[in-house]
Amino acid sequence: MKSGPEDVLTSKNLKKTTVRIQVLQALTNSNIALSQHQLEEKFANQIDRTTLYRTLKLYEEKGIIHRIYNSFGEAKYAACLDHCQEHAHSDHHLHFNCLKCKGTFCINQVEIPAFKLPEGMLAIHYNFSVEGVCEKCREN
Ligand SMILES: [Zn+2]
Ligand SMILES: [Zn+2]
Ligand SMILES: [Zn+2]
Repeated sequence: MKSGPEDVLTSKNLKKTTVRIQVLQALTNSNIALSQHQLEEKFANQIDRTTLYRTLKLYEEKGIIHRIYNSFGEAKYAACLDHCQEHAHSDHHLHFNCLKCKGTFCINQVEIPAFKLPEGMLAIHYNFSVEGVCEKCREN
């Protein structure tokens, strides 16, 4: 069971504001990763840009959401699984970027083989991605 936005905020010691709950709910409920622009449209005139930007930044720092760049260079955000920590994301999963609808999907069911980086290199952000055409776009 995935915990609700309010439980997540509690576990990260964050104040539960309406905006925070709404934004996290939107990202949790979405089956694709969302850009800031898509979120702005979703909450048209309800949440101002700066607040949204700050919320996303805070969530990323706290290990609640992760940022993905698709092949068009657009930043997308998706909710993390429960095991991400503050400033230590462990989203070792594949991202699928659809070239047609530009949708970005988190693929949790594909296992990423364990690997070791050359000595002296420190990993900060992981980005495993595949470009292609999603199921919906293939049908159309
Ligand atoms: Zn994460
Ligand atoms: Zn698509
Ligand atoms: Zn992801």
